[in-house]
Amino acid sequence: MFNETHVTIDLAALQHNASIAKRSASGSKVMAMIKADAYGHGLLPVAKALQHVDGFAVARLSEALVLREAGFNKTILVLTGFSCAEELECFVLHDLDAVVHSEYQVSRLTQSSLQSPLSVWLKINTGMNRLGVNSPDVMRISDALQLSGNVRLPFKLMTHLACADDMNRTVTEEQIELFDESVKGLAGEQSIANSAGLLGWQYSQRHWVRPGIMLYGGCPFAGKPAADYDLKPVMTLKSSVISLRTVSKGDCVGYGGSWTAQRTSLIATVGIGYGDGYPRHAVTGTPVLIGGQKAPLVGRVSMDSISIDVSQCEGVAVGDVATLWGDGLPIDEIAEKSDAISYELMCGITERVTRIVKGLSDGE
Ligand SMILES: *Cc1c(COP(=O)(O)O)cnc(C)c1O
Repeated sequence: MFNETHVTIDLAALQHNASIAKRSASGSKVMAMIKADAYGHGLLPVAKALQHVDGFAVARLSEALVLREAGFNKTILVLTGFSCAEELECFVLHDLDAVVHSEYQVSRLTQSSLQSPLSVWLKINTGMNRLGVNSPDVMRISDALQLSGNVRLPFKLMTHLACADDMNRTVTEEQIELFDESVKGLAGEQSIANSAGLLGWQYSQRHWVRPGIMLYGGCPFAGKPAADYDLKPVMTLKSSVISLRTVSKGDCVGYGGSWTAQRTSLIATVGIGYGDGYPRHAVTGTPVLIGGQKAPLVGRVSMDSISIDVSQCEGVAVGDVATLWGDGLPIDEIAEKSDAISYELMCGITERVTRIVKGLSDGE
């Protein structure tokens, strides 16, 4: 039997990347972003491997409850907060931190009578225009939160950077300035930085940093190798060669016949496709590692297979392992060739792909 299509999650690499985050954050507390099943890496194994961070953040209440049920008792921040009174009670019951990003949440919170006060992170919109209360409203909302008796004081203050991945944009500095103006006089701990902020904008490091992609070994800056920051790939996606054929000059390969051989070529068919989460928009030329040698994808990506021109490779045989991304082949290279971002590729691995988790010894 061939090596089936599988994804390996290297928790030692994850821990290494977390230590880079901690070191780069010079004194800030680290909130590990583990939303969306830890960017597709598996919520519980990732949380278990990250025992040394100061907190976790997820997008939804349901994700936070999975963590609490599994026994994780550190700070867990829910980035969308609560929507109704029942959810509010659930936050209190399970000691979850809530982002308050909209006026309707402020009303719900100040109108309820909670068993004990809630830990709140007031999110301020400084230019992302997605979630967050606007700067002119901050002082009024702060007063309401302080008076309500339902909020643990001092509440925390946060914002999110929209363009920190681009070191040439001045908007990041403007966002930070607006944040500082908005929170003037408020005592709570602050948080601004995602991975790009943490690695590229030192002034965005406050009491808490919120790294996500860097923990998984993706580079937050377009066109820069993750290795420049000593980040290691956590997810490696592999499959194998299931067929080899020689095609003649002028023959086409794959759906639509979109690639035509310019000379006699050796084509390897690898048993992975968009049905596994390999990006359908990967272009001809996207690199694949076969037996440790880089070779180009040719033609369209199918649901269950892709075609690779291995004419320039030595001794390729049916059954050879093919690496699609990860160890030896940075995911950012594949993302760039498929009009995607590394985040999207990591989150897109489908159910049928076998998962192997390695690198977590007992007692960690
Ligand atoms: C996802 C997310 C992050 C982490 O961003 P990365 O680019 O993955 O580091 C930080 N803060 C918020 C609010 C997020 O939603």
